[in-house]
Amino acid sequence: MIKLAHREDCCGCAACAAACPHGAIRMEADGMGFRYPVVDTSLCVDCGLCEEVCAFKPITAEKSPRAEAIRFPSLLEGSQSGGLAVALMRKAIGEGYVVYGAALDSDLVVRHRRVATQEGLEPLRLSKYVQSDMDGIPGQVLQDLESGKKVLFTGTPCQCAGIGSLCGAHRENLLLADILCHGVPAPAVWKGYLGFSAARKGAVVSGALFRDPSLGWHEHRERLSYGDGSSEVRNNYTFLFYRHLMLRPSCNRCPFASLNRPSDITMADCWGVEKALPGFADDNRGCSLLLVNTPAGEGFTAAFPDACERRPIDVQKVLQRNMLRPTKANRYAKSFENDYIRKGFAFVDGHYGRESLNYRIEKWIWSVKKRFRR
Ligand SMILES: Cc1cc2nc3c(=O)[nH]c(=O)nc-3n(C[C@H](O)[C@H](O)[C@H](O)COP(=O)(O)OP(=O)(O)OC[C@H]3O[C@@H](n4cnc5c(N)ncnc54)[C@H](O)[C@@H]3O)c2cc1C
Ligand code: SF4
Ligand code: SF4
Ligand code: SF4
Repeated sequence: MIKLAHREDCCGCAACAAACPHGAIRMEADGMGFRYPVVDTSLCVDCGLCEEVCAFKPITAEKSPRAEAIRFPSLLEGSQSGGLAVALMRKAIGEGYVVYGAALDSDLVVRHRRVATQEGLEPLRLSKYVQSDMDGIPGQVLQDLESGKKVLFTGTPCQCAGIGSLCGAHRENLLLADILCHGVPAPAVWKGYLGFSAARKGAVVSGALFRDPSLGWHEHRERLSYGDGSSEVRNNYTFLFYRHLMLRPSCNRCPFASLNRPSDITMADCWGVEKALPGFADDNRGCSLLLVNTPAGEGFTAAFPDACERRPIDVQKVLQRNMLRPTKANRYAKSFENDYIRKGFAFVDGHYGRESLNYRIEKWIWSVKKRFRR
């Protein structure tokens, strides 16, 4: 049975829970809201299926994806990069697939959901910088495939790897599209931030954009909308995300931070496109990087119903850190976690945020190190 020696060994994909034929595994959240499998030993018969299905390990086969810069002019508005995700999903629905992706639900919790219509795709658009809840999803995907449906699953590489492993017998009807992944922040901190913002404003938070696309592609700040009709752009949450203080522990050991992808297709921001392909996407409206990793991915991305502009690109010219190695946790991540659980969002915002003494010291250390490197 699954025995986690370290929290870093589990990405929370929930594939093991779906694989257990005895219903012995449930996913339980820790203090940061990250979900982990818990085995009911009175139901477990030690068959080992859960360990077998766990795909949170490095991919041994060397792959060399084909890369393209791609953008969909009519889909740029309301997309985080170049609109590749929604273009893939629209094509899939048009061809009779069911689609899975991450949505921000009305209670502002991010969960994966199943969509079977074009209209249903809207909530799956845009990046939600928090780990999505996958409870029950792997089983649903498997059921769809077993009943003969074609499925497009979109998500983080580790979620795709879990789905791919669980549904290996139906791979010909399953298309996997992963995002290039920096790491996923803690659901509990996101919830705490919403409560903190509501208290500060004196109105409930009614909606959120994790990275408001209307500010421009290169800008990363969150927008919160309130029950009183107002909205504001802030970056308290984004700042903590980019300081790597609240990422899932497994993200620091991610086996998928490489060009060896577990999916057919990879979607990313094509950072650096302005230099690599001058004139192609210089307007700060967004551009996707498409990595085609398998023949199935090649076939599916050969043409799209939505008009697009696409050019082959040398992936070495637009490489990102997470294509080479995992994000390194901040040295204060553990104390951040303890402080968050004991004292809440207002405390960690003051203690680790942009205005904190802690951050000013860290900035000073960086500047000293930089001076010595010269
Ligand atoms: C936590 C996180 C970290 C990321 N890190 C990087 C990075 O380091 N470098 C980079 O180039 N790109 C990164 N991305 C991906 C990038 O932000 C875009 O989402 C991606 O390029 C797709 O953009 P789009 O315009 O094609 O479509 P969009 O409409 O913007 O993307 C929507 C797609 O993203 C998926 N998605 C959204 N939120 C989540 C989530 N929480 N969990 C799983 N799937 C989700 C949806 O299922 C859907 O398929 C990250 C995304 C997330 C959510
Ligand atoms: S070993 Fe078998 S029965 Fe036990 S939890 Fe794993 S899958 Fe379930
Ligand atoms: S990585 Fe996924 S399959 Fe492996 S133990 Fe964690 S939840 Fe289960
Ligand atoms: S960084 Fe790796 S482990 Fe973390 S969410 Fe992304 S794919 Fe999963």
